[in-house]
Amino acid sequence: MNDPIGFIGLGNMGEHMSGHLLEAGHSLVVYDIRDEAVAPLTAKGAAKAASPGEVAQAAETIILSLPRPEIVKDVVLGQNGIIFGDKVKTVVDLSTIGPQMAGEVAAGLAAKGLSFVDSPVSGGVAGARKGSLAVMVSCPDEDFAEVRDLLNPIGTVFHVGTKPGLGQTMKLANNMLSAAALAISSEAMVMGVKAGLDPSVMLDVINAGSGRNTATDGKFATAILPRTFDVGFANGLMHKDVALYLKTASALEVPTELASAVELLWRATCSENGPEADFTTIVKCVERRAGVEVKSRD
Ligand code: NAD
Repeated sequence: MNDPIGFIGLGNMGEHMSGHLLEAGHSLVVYDIRDEAVAPLTAKGAAKAASPGEVAQAAETIILSLPRPEIVKDVVLGQNGIIFGDKVKTVVDLSTIGPQMAGEVAAGLAAKGLSFVDSPVSGGVAGARKGSLAVMVSCPDEDFAEVRDLLNPIGTVFHVGTKPGLGQTMKLANNMLSAAALAISSEAMVMGVKAGLDPSVMLDVINAGSGRNTATDGKFATAILPRTFDVGFANGLMHKDVALYLKTASALEVPTELASAVELLWRATCSENGPEADFTTIVKCVERRAGVEVKSRD
C-alpha cells in the first residue's frame, strides 16, 4: 500500500473527491470538524485524525477542500495546524481562497521548506461525484509532476501556471461567469414567466438557441423548476467567490461594472435566503420582486 494521503474538509466536494482517491487505491487519513462528515470515509477504510497537525504527522501530501480563505490559513498555519506536523512535505489546496491568500499560505509553508500546490476545482458536486472536475493547478513543474497522477481521479488536470495564486485567478474568472449566468438567467426566466411563457418551453428554446449557459442547461431544470434547490453549492460560498473576483480585478485595475452588478444579487440572496441555502435560491430574490415563481407547470 502507498503512503497515506491526508484529506481535510469532507463536505459537499471533499466527500466525493476523497472517495475517488480511495477507489484509486490510495490509503487516506482524514480530518473534518464534523464527525458526520468523517464517518462515511472511515466506513470506506480511511483513518481518522484528531487535528490537521495529526494528519501532518501521518501523510507527506495533504489535500484540502475547505470553505473559506481564513479557514485554510488556520488549518495550515494556525494552532495544531499542518505546519506543525513532522511528515508533511506538500499541501494541495482544492479550495477557492483567492490569489492573495494562496500567496500568504504558500509563503508560510515555504518558510518551513514545504510546498504549496494551488489547485482549485470547478464542475460542482455533480462533477465531484463523477470525477469530471476541471482542476486548475498552479505550482512549479517539479511539484506538478509529483501531484498530477494523484489528482487524475477527480477530473481533468490543467497546469495553468507555476506560481501560487494563478490557479485561484483562473477559478475566479470561471466562477464569475457561472455566477453571472445564474443571476442574469434568473432575471430573464422571471421576465418570461411573468409575461405568460411556460418556463420548460423557455429552457428548451434557450438551450437550442444562443442564450444557452450553465444555468439554463442544468440548474434551472434540475433544481429550480422542480423547486428542490439542491445543487450543493451554498449562496455564501458563491458570494465569497464573486467578492474575491472583485478584489482581484480591482487590484489588477480591471473594470468591474458588470461584476459589481452581479455581486448585488448574490449579496441579496445571502441576506434574504441565507448564506447556507443552495445557490439556486438566487432566483427567489427576483421572483419576490416580480410576484411570480419559475416552476414546472405539471
Ligand atoms: P462545504 O461547506 O460543503 O464543505 C467544507 C467542509 O470543510 C465541511 O465538511 C466542514 O465541516 C469542513 N470544515 C470547515 N472548517 C473546518 C476546519 N477548520 N477544519 C476541518 N474541516 C473544516 O463546502 P464545499 O461546497 O465542499 O466547498 C469546499 C471548497 O470547494 C470551497 O472553497 C468552495 O468554494 C469550493 N468549491 C465548491 C464547489 C461546489 O459546487 N460545492 C465547486 C467548486 C469549488
